[in-house]
Amino acid sequence: MNARILIVCSEAVPLVKTGGLADVITSLARALRRRGLDATVMMPGYPAALDQARNLEEAGVLADLPGGPGRLLSGTMPEHDVPVLLLCTPGFARRTGNPYVDECGQEFADNAQCFGTLAHAVVAVCGGATALAPPHVVHANDWHAGLVPALLRLKRIGEIGTLFTIHNLAFQGNFPLDCAAGLGIPPAMLGPDGLEFWGRLSFLKAGIRYADCISTVSHSYAAEILTPRFGHGMDGLLNERKRDLLAIRNGVDTDTWNPAGDALIARPFSPTDMRGKSVCKRELQALFNLPPDPFAPILAVGSRITHQKMADVAQASLPTVLQRYPRAQLIVLGCGDHAYEQGFARLAQDFPGRVAAHIGYDEKRAHALHAGADMLLHGSRFEPFGLTPLYSMRYGTIPIASRVGGIIDTIADARLSGPPPQGASGILFDGEDADSMTTAVSRAFALYENPGEWHAMQRNAMSADFSWSQPAEQYAAAYRGIAAQAVKELFAVRPEAPEVDIPAYKTA
Ligand code: ADP
Repeated sequence: MNARILIVCSEAVPLVKTGGLADVITSLARALRRRGLDATVMMPGYPAALDQARNLEEAGVLADLPGGPGRLLSGTMPEHDVPVLLLCTPGFARRTGNPYVDECGQEFADNAQCFGTLAHAVVAVCGGATALAPPHVVHANDWHAGLVPALLRLKRIGEIGTLFTIHNLAFQGNFPLDCAAGLGIPPAMLGPDGLEFWGRLSFLKAGIRYADCISTVSHSYAAEILTPRFGHGMDGLLNERKRDLLAIRNGVDTDTWNPAGDALIARPFSPTDMRGKSVCKRELQALFNLPPDPFAPILAVGSRITHQKMADVAQASLPTVLQRYPRAQLIVLGCGDHAYEQGFARLAQDFPGRVAAHIGYDEKRAHALHAGADMLLHGSRFEPFGLTPLYSMRYGTIPIASRVGGIIDTIADARLSGPPPQGASGILFDGEDADSMTTAVSRAFALYENPGEWHAMQRNAMSADFSWSQPAEQYAAAYRGIAAQAVKELFAVRPEAPEVDIPAYKTA
């Protein structure tokens, strides 16, 4: 028998993705399976997920869910054969675009009911209401799955260990308290030592409060979230649960983000043969209708365009940068808050032939951006891990990033003056003001002018190891820690195998 882990989440590549969480879920499941752990992803059956998942078959009808009956389909992810359970409900069927907000950026009115329903479906699987073998451990991720540990406690399903991972504390899933009854949450659980959070019902708090163990995705963020500045109001509770809080960093899917074998880029390249990068640069300029200048330093911005990602600060800083470096080009790829999106569109109008902005979500353009740019500007007011700068580093694109959260743990700072220390792989800056950002970008341009220093940084960036080996083993150890005594030995990891060698999550 293999250890069974049910990874509950709202998004997973390639089925649905709005941010780094989706990348992390699929690569974690793959990494666990390669080590002999039977990891299955359970998530909403959004239309896009149903379209792409393979081998779908009915795994059960769940009559007793808050949003009415739901169907559970089991299948596999395309490409990697990671087993997936998709919960189909009318609410999820309506989510044809972004799963959380409508076209105007307004949160869907039924988010609480939809994700509450997902949690109830997980509890039904755990309680044996379907023919599926219940998991030994449930790994719930972010607020979307926050009710799972609380409901398992409520239903007294105590033999299944629960790990709750915080990928971003800012997204909390807070709703009016009066939705509790419809979600099957009794008044006794609605006090301040339960799910109540500033007069609302918080899914995130439910996860933090009731999971056996909590984790977050970098050491620095784990320390930061215990402070009022980064705690988003949860620091008190997190301090109470500090002994159960683990830091397990994310990994990078090194197959997908691999300059030597990336089918989405114009020409492959590697640290020992960088010729392809020049071709990628030319292609990037063509893709964004910028002049094909091989000597123009290209600064990229590629992320959600939000306050968290310092879009406001970038828009205050970048005109100065563009005036100071007349040959530089700026390429923006992203979407998010409409006002900030318009700000970047205006910047492109103000600097024709030098700035291009694609407002939208586009995986192919993201690969082209990382491969063809010279630098990536990644400001963040807080950053749980920060996958995007690590992707850029894989392609020798040097990150200029805020010294917060996971960034501190992953980018070796070249510092703002003097020769870059050995091993430097990026430039970090402090503060949330335009001057600090401009100074850091100027430092990057200065280093770019010195090919010896720049190439050394590129080599460091490209060879940094952020594979899933270490985090997968740490997750396995965490699962073992919370699993019932009788099944703990199942969580001993096997040496990594290239292919899945365990049967998919099926009946017992
Ligand atoms: P976060 O999860 O806070 O958004 P991360 O940097 O950890 O930040 O992960 C973001 C992920 O989303 C990365 O895979 C990044 O490449 C991707 N991404 C963000 N915006 C876009 C976009 N507009 N088009 C394509 N990929 C994007």
